[in-house]
Amino acid sequence: MKCCKRKYIVTLLSFLTLFVFTGCGKGVVKSSETTTGMGTVVQKTVYVNEEQTGKDIFSEIDTYMEKYENELLSWRVSDSEISKINATAGSGSGYQVQSSELWENLQTIWKVSERSQGALDITVGMVTRAWNIDAWATGDNNGFPIPDKEILDELLQNVGYQNVRLEEGLIYLPAQMSLDLGAVGKGIVCDKIGEYLKTLDEMTGAVITIGGSVVTYGEKPDGGTWNIAIVHPRKEGSYLGTVSVRGEHYIATSGDYERYVERDGIRYHHIINPDTGYPAESGVCSVTIVSDSGLLSDALSTACFVLGVQDGLKLVEEFGAEALFVTAEMEIVMTPGMERMFVSQ
Ligand code: AMP
Ligand code: MG
Repeated sequence: MKCCKRKYIVTLLSFLTLFVFTGCGKGVVKSSETTTGMGTVVQKTVYVNEEQTGKDIFSEIDTYMEKYENELLSWRVSDSEISKINATAGSGSGYQVQSSELWENLQTIWKVSERSQGALDITVGMVTRAWNIDAWATGDNNGFPIPDKEILDELLQNVGYQNVRLEEGLIYLPAQMSLDLGAVGKGIVCDKIGEYLKTLDEMTGAVITIGGSVVTYGEKPDGGTWNIAIVHPRKEGSYLGTVSVRGEHYIATSGDYERYVERDGIRYHHIINPDTGYPAESGVCSVTIVSDSGLLSDALSTACFVLGVQDGLKLVEEFGAEALFVTAEMEIVMTPGMERMFVSQ
């Protein structure tokens, strides 16, 4: 059995914090840092006015990531909002969502679930746990068991966004149902970071990457574009090109190379088809979305991965987002807006 190398990089980086700072002329300095957070690699680059180093900005971003994970998003943290929601499954009385931001996010997530016919469905929690996807990320894949089909079929009976009631700030989960915000959490945090960056007078531009989710903001001192690499899904260290943008954008990629385990030549990746309980097989290896919302980009990237090219293109059009698909044949299919942003390698 082989596990993706990304986890080794994550493990290595957890012992290593890189902090780089370079003068760029025009009274602006560049600060960069590579660390880990939200179970993945976090890369931060900011351009700040001289005499600032970006360190305070970086620690504020780290605080947001930790706070959102622990207080809102993680089902592993027992007193996060999501854990509290999960704990009320089947109670009938519902859970009053404390965070208005989370409440709004849930509305958006449900909208994407409805329009994608459940390709995005955060009620897959029990199924993602059966696959033990979290353990793949930490490298603890010893004895990785492929769940029995009978078990998955049984768990699937408790999956279904349409069986959840969201009403007047209350969420009602049916018994045995569990939410997993893995498909959207990094996007939600990117939105928060984008909001924070806007409050900083001393900063002229930034690009922050949390795993597959990126927020770009402002501009580079030389007026150049922010270039987000589109990874070659089958050649580690290679790129197919870049998505090149200026100003504020939210870019999310879902790929079958990000988290996976292999057994007997079969790749089991982390994006589940909620209809089957198995890793989605839609003929794509990765999907990248660009929109003006971190949550939307993250939600759509997962949904489009499950849907594949044809239905995915229809979905992004409905949301006014741009998409780039890398197919199993390594072909690139893009929306017209994405064609204007994509620079081939
Ligand atoms: P992403 O990398 O953004 O596509 O998110 C993948 C993560 O979301 C997985 O690690 C699971 O925790 C969760 N997940 C997997 N499949 C789905 C799905 N179809 N809908 C919602 N969440 C999912
Ligand atoms: Mg996603």
